[in-house]
Amino acid sequence: AKAQGRNMLCFFDPAMQAAASARSALEGDIRLGLARAEFLLHYQPVVDATGQLLGAEALVRWNHPQRGMVPPAEFIPLAEQTGLILPLGRQVLAMACHQLALWAADPARASWTLSVNVSAQEFRQSEFVQDVLAVLRDSGADARRLKLELTESLLLHDVEDSILKMQALRTLGVGFALDDFGTGYSSLSYLKRLPLDQLKIDQSFVRDVLTDPNDAAIACTIITLAHSLALDVVAEGVETEGQRAFLLRNGCQRFQGYLFGRPGPAALL
Ligand code: C2E
Ligand code: CA
Ligand code: CA
Ligand code: CA
Repeated sequence: AKAQGRNMLCFFDPAMQAAASARSALEGDIRLGLARAEFLLHYQPVVDATGQLLGAEALVRWNHPQRGMVPPAEFIPLAEQTGLILPLGRQVLAMACHQLALWAADPARASWTLSVNVSAQEFRQSEFVQDVLAVLRDSGADARRLKLELTESLLLHDVEDSILKMQALRTLGVGFALDDFGTGYSSLSYLKRLPLDQLKIDQSFVRDVLTDPNDAAIACTIITLAHSLALDVVAEGVETEGQRAFLLRNGCQRFQGYLFGRPGPAALL
């Protein structure tokens, strides 16, 4: 009975209770933020070997009335735990497709592609394909300019289902990038079965690419692998000219990172 009592005390631990109530306050705040349309997209340029813009990646921000511009690390995890990622993801996709439709009307931007991050819960919904199609239709965006960024763990959860969903969207022209490549399961056998267009070299390999021979070897291997599978490859987190030059010398032709631009409002692209 004494042991049980101790466990009970543990359950009512004030620190745990405080954390739980902070979480539910944040959850309520996210709900309110969704209703008040406080979430917006910032856009980070993706450039080619000559520095020309190929498009951008859309990165969600929370323009919170008290807290200012809140980065995704502070609300995406809870949104995923609570299912709020579903309405949030739909808003993100709608804003991204609206932006694509605006670019389509501007000859200088009409060829840009926009990459959008998709979380596992969104992708696993049985209505995912229908939802994307509906957003594309409502916005008037060209499906061929939309690229969805997925992760290895998301795709491997149910490979057959992933392939079916990707194929359904691909017939309309939607592209797919494998995000944070090299950090996940990295099972090479499934890579050739997935209908991908692009691998994104995770920034953790780019950071020390000039000083850490292991990171350099991994980055070069990803570039070679992408080319042998006829996929594009984008290096993420490129911050210095030295990193860019090394990656270019080793065959990477697409870059994203602070060297070319931080995420910001569409008007700054
Ligand atoms: P990610 O998809 O890997 O996005 C790249 C992150 O690296 C972004 O952080 C970007 O601002 C940052 N970054 C870009 N260039 C550099 C650089 O040169 N150096 C460094 N150190 N960092 C750089 P951000 O915007 O804070 O997003 C973090 C993560 O949140 C994203 O990682 C993505 O996983 C998630 N996320 C962002 N927007 C969305 C969204 O709309 N939906 C979902 N499901 N997840 C999102
Ligand atoms: Ca991404
Ligand atoms: Ca990434
Ligand atoms: Ca990441």
